[in-house]
Amino acid sequence: MAEDCLFCKIFAREIPAKEVFRDEEIVAFEDIRPVAPTHVLVIPKEHIPTVHDLLPAHAPMLLRMFQVANQIADERKIDRDGYRLVMNKGPQAGQTVYHLHLHLLGGRAMAWPPG
Ligand code: AMP
Ligand code: ZN
Repeated sequence: MAEDCLFCKIFAREIPAKEVFRDEEIVAFEDIRPVAPTHVLVIPKEHIPTVHDLLPAHAPMLLRMFQVANQIADERKIDRDGYRLVMNKGPQAGQTVYHLHLHLLGGRAMAWPPG
């Protein structure tokens, strides 16, 4: 657990979140400032600052993150219309929390290219 990391604290339940999934390795919760009808963040327990810090050993955990996101998409019945999975890396991409997280966005049409 990293000091002063918001998402490490959410994983440790030191800061409350509207959780939608939890196991030993992964937590998913509602984004506090949703930008779509479904906006869920999927995070690992391990403090990994950005997607650029991933190592080969993280592969099973990364797959689990995507499986959890897909499962939530199924539960919310947004799989048919489609949804977007996003990881922002660094300031130009708009990353604000430096603990790996996967955005699950759905429930509305989305523009491409993103802004
Ligand atoms: P990013 O900009 O990709 O780093 O995404 C960080 C996301 O975390 C943003 O969409 C924020 O709205 C969200 N966020 C920040 N603080 C909280 C919190 N306490 N609970 C839930 N989501 C949060
Ligand atoms: Zn962290």
